[in-house]
Amino acid sequence: MSATRLILLGPPGAGKGTQALRLVEALGIPQISTGDMLRSAVAADTPVGREAKGYMDAGKLVPDRVVVGVAQERLAEPDARTGFILDGFPRTVGQAEALDEMLPALGCRLERCIVLAVSEAVLIERLLKRAQIEGRTDDNEASIRTRMVEYREKTAPLIDYYRGEGIAAEVDGLGSVEEVGDRIAAALA
Ligand code: AMP
Repeated sequence: MSATRLILLGPPGAGKGTQALRLVEALGIPQISTGDMLRSAVAADTPVGREAKGYMDAGKLVPDRVVVGVAQERLAEPDARTGFILDGFPRTVGQAEALDEMLPALGCRLERCIVLAVSEAVLIERLLKRAQIEGRTDDNEASIRTRMVEYREKTAPLIDYYRGEGIAAEVDGLGSVEEVGDRIAAALA
């Protein structure tokens, strides 16, 4: 048996997206990436996208009010009924509290928060490489450094938040995709 209401938490470049896709395959539940949803909104030039773009390009977190709305709508979709992998949400204590408030209405609760631990030097190197491969507009060095600071100041406190809920599991994020994936599977069992 594996947990199916999950959060993947970790700094930018820790491998959340890669590991989320493996879990989608293994568990048959959807990945919910607020980053992907916001990028789609920017590309489609929706009101949400127009509000989010400046923050994203600068490497800043998009305001909770905007992101919580996006996540709430997505979690209410039918395919999330059997489980979900939250990738990049929540990213602030305010978002985590909003999530805790919306889940009872959806008839579920969080089962595990996987914290991917990777050193900052490794992260910066990975992100600069990803910038060359994917051409993400927020993968330049200034934005990367801002995203690290945002993570440290606003997102890292969630580790203690989920420790307090008794669902945090720290996983070493260094190693091959398979090695890290095996550690995550063990943490979910
Ligand atoms: P990601 O693809 O998860 O790295 O997200 C890319 C960017 O989207 C972040 O740097 C933020 O600007 C924005 N973003 C994604 N998810 C969130 C969130 N939960 N809260 C605030 N901003 C977010």
